[in-house]
Amino acid sequence: MSLLDMVKEAGVIGAGGAGFPTHVKLASKSEFILLNGAECEPLLRVDQQLMKLFPDEIIKGFEIAGRFVGASKALIGVKGKHKKVISILKEKILELQVGDFVEVKELPDVYPVGDEQVLVYELTGRVVPEMGIPIQVGCVVINTETALNIYHASKGEPVTEKYITVAGDIPNRLTIKVPVGTPIIDVLKKSGIENFDDYAVIDGGPMMGPVMTNIDGYITKKNKGFVILKKQHSLIRKKSMNLEQASRVNKASCGQCRMCTDMCPRYLLGHNMQPHKMMTALNYALTDIEGQKISQLCCQCNLCELFSCPQGLYPKSANIYFKEKLAKQNIRYKPVKLEFTPHKMREYRLVPSKRLIARLGLGDFDRAAPMTEAQIQPDLVQIATSQHVGAPAVPVVFANDHVELGQVIGKIPEGSLGATIHSSISGTVVECGNDFIVIRRN
Ligand code: SF4
Ligand code: SF4
Repeated sequence: MSLLDMVKEAGVIGAGGAGFPTHVKLASKSEFILLNGAECEPLLRVDQQLMKLFPDEIIKGFEIAGRFVGASKALIGVKGKHKKVISILKEKILELQVGDFVEVKELPDVYPVGDEQVLVYELTGRVVPEMGIPIQVGCVVINTETALNIYHASKGEPVTEKYITVAGDIPNRLTIKVPVGTPIIDVLKKSGIENFDDYAVIDGGPMMGPVMTNIDGYITKKNKGFVILKKQHSLIRKKSMNLEQASRVNKASCGQCRMCTDMCPRYLLGHNMQPHKMMTALNYALTDIEGQKISQLCCQCNLCELFSCPQGLYPKSANIYFKEKLAKQNIRYKPVKLEFTPHKMREYRLVPSKRLIARLGLGDFDRAAPMTEAQIQPDLVQIATSQHVGAPAVPVVFANDHVELGQVIGKIPEGSLGATIHSSISGTVVECGNDFIVIRRN
């Protein structure tokens, strides 16, 4: 079986949050393969610990993926501040004798250096075109945990577990491996908090993660972490604003200072993303469709809303407003050129993580979240058929079937983009629907 088939069979998807099926990514030929070990969302601590704990497996998984896509170089991007991780990786590269192919490159400690397009530029000096993807400049990018999963896939082991950081204003910060389909509340309670009435939970990092409207869900292969904060924390209040409320605030006081644009990471790469123009379009109800199209160049990193704007306004929300409007009309931005040059002031406008964390009011919670040996063994798991980009998996089991840990329970529909799903415990299928499969431990 080829690596591609093994990765497909194992249900490997982008573990950094995007959830793109990895076998599809690996089907391209590419000059570079890049490992995204930036983990630039404040407070999350998964990738940096995985690289310390499993350097052998991660490097091997990354190497075989790189050889498979025909890359001439495999570059691991890690923030320079993680000195211990860097020395472990370098040692292991020497030991495995792959130094002519795999190389560690240090990244600056800025946000959002883990944005795929920023990462490509930092590691290769190439700029992904507007509306483009890394393969257009000869790069395939995979996340650290994905490389680990590729290694396991090459040994015939499917993805049935997920590493999660639980962080924030809590007594017990930790990172833990849990079965896919575990109730989220079981993971949250590891924080030492039992009653969440006074707390809000961010699904993912504090910059891009949404505030959860309920915490009754189940872990998917895309989850990376949860940030728990008191409901009255300023970040929760800011992030809880809906599009309509944000539009109302936006209309009140944008002074067109351009800070949102001048610090926008996509603008600094030379793209035409200019959120201050979207604010004008919103505030004056401008109808120029051509001008509105640039809203589609936003990667929703949230820097403009949570850091750059001195007025505390919502330029990203203005982008989303126009993005959604244009999507309904099926209108797409068309780049007028293919080559882009980063802004000459780019290096002076990068936002240091420490400053960002202070601005978010998270300085007190920026602490270690050590990997714990503790286990969660849920009696019941609910495994979503859609935890990835593409079509939902089609169940291949029925209610009352007995399933073993790692058994295929859902397959990719014929001719579709998607990912295989597996049982994360041994037990009995108690419910099997189009959206999820519920399994009770025996
Ligand atoms: S949204 Fe904020 S940063 Fe952007 S132009 Fe208006 S006031 Fe300035
Ligand atoms: S969220 Fe704001 S800063 Fe980030 S890409 Fe979009 S416009 Fe730029």
